[in-house]
Amino acid sequence: MLRFLGPLFCWYACLTGGNRKVLPKDTLDASHLPVLEENLPRYAPTGASLVNRRLRLGSFFSALLLKRWIYPALDVRPVVAELFLTDNCNLRCISCACWRADTPDELTRDEWFNVIDQLAEHGFVKLNFTGGEALLRPDLLEILSYASKHSDAELHLNTNAILLSPNLAQQIIDAGVRSFNISVDGATPEMHDGIRGQKGAFETTSTSLNLQDCATGTTLSSVLCSR
Ligand code: SF4
Repeated sequence: MLRFLGPLFCWYACLTGGNRKVLPKDTLDASHLPVLEENLPRYAPTGASLVNRRLRLGSFFSALLLKRWIYPALDVRPVVAELFLTDNCNLRCISCACWRADTPDELTRDEWFNVIDQLAEHGFVKLNFTGGEALLRPDLLEILSYASKHSDAELHLNTNAILLSPNLAQQIIDAGVRSFNISVDGATPEMHDGIRGQKGAFETTSTSLNLQDCATGTTLSSVLCSR
């Protein structure tokens, strides 16, 4: 039964965009709205890159079906890559090990450029930039811009949004990011801040959510824990 329900659930999540939060416009901060709305038409993929991506997705799912039902030995290449830009983080979540050690010697900007080039050659349709906290990297915008210019993939960013100012959000969008995932671990400051290990985290993240919903796809993710 689980083998049947699992794929069904995945398809449902793909079609609905997961646990998507859409705020009515009158809850948005008026100072953020005009500048982001102005740029909305630029955000949707068009032309050859859109056709390319749909063809790649179509062949990926066809190959998966073939592998599952007819030819299990078929080699199916993935279409989404997760790029862990850093292990370091500015929060202290009880469910996470990233922040427990200060990780030096992470990949340099040029090494990430090289990784992106390799992924582009293999026709990935989506690159998820994550961490740790990706916004801690001073070269994040350069890496995102490089990915936008050197691959057809859609760019997605995971962040805890603590450092996400209106200005930085706009720069990230200008660099090519088309969707965000922001972690929220509770509906109240007490619960969220308790899990995230920082007082005020709920307030900061909620403000960023209002901003992100103006311009791009934003999803929320939560870790379920017993306390
Ligand atoms: S925000 Fe994310 S990376 Fe940072 S400590 Fe929490 S779960 Fe880990």
